[in-house]
Amino acid sequence: MNDTITRDSNCEITRATAEFPRREVIALSPDTLENIRRHPLAFSDLRTEMLEWLRGLPMPSFSSQVALAPSEIAGYGLRARGDIPAGDFVAAETGPRINRVFVQVVEAATGYECNTCVGWGEYLVHAPLHVEGKGGYLNHSCNPNVGMLLDGVWIAIRPILAGEEVTCDYGTFETMRDWNMECACGEAACRKHVSWTDYRDPDLRRRLGRWFAPYLRKQIKPEAA
Ligand SMILES: [Zn+2]
Repeated sequence: MNDTITRDSNCEITRATAEFPRREVIALSPDTLENIRRHPLAFSDLRTEMLEWLRGLPMPSFSSQVALAPSEIAGYGLRARGDIPAGDFVAAETGPRINRVFVQVVEAATGYECNTCVGWGEYLVHAPLHVEGKGGYLNHSCNPNVGMLLDGVWIAIRPILAGEEVTCDYGTFETMRDWNMECACGEAACRKHVSWTDYRDPDLRRRLGRWFAPYLRKQIKPEAA
């Protein structure tokens, strides 16, 4: 019985990863993660398969005015190479779009945590950008300089000066249940604690509501924005 469950889960992951590219969400069933946790030996090849799949995904596209660089906030980040006017394109991701279980399977198998929430339970994932398998390029700031114009498409929401780190506010798009982190961005408006429910915060809506991810902008009534 367990073998059957395990084999089905293996098939499910193989089928799901083979189905990229496509526009709809690639979903793994909730049983898959539990099955992996219960039968780790049956998934010994999963890390290798998942890393191979991740490396085959598209990289984000970046403006020529930004470059990956060590960050003063955390790990790696994106830094402006020249002055970027408000409204200019900064970066874009093309997917694929995966569900929460798929995100958790990727994280459990590889430790790769880089994804962008673009819908209720929908996440864009891109190829790792750094040799050690780390993916990140946009760090969080409570006073961000980019916002999400379209799903996974980031533009400058104020002028960005050459040398400045490019940052977004994770509270403007991340709604994965129970996700949260401590913040020490150093901004005067630092919330100290950033969480998956920040999109409900009236002050954040007032300040950054127009730059919430498109699926969250639909939640904001005009009088509250
Ligand atoms: Zn902060």
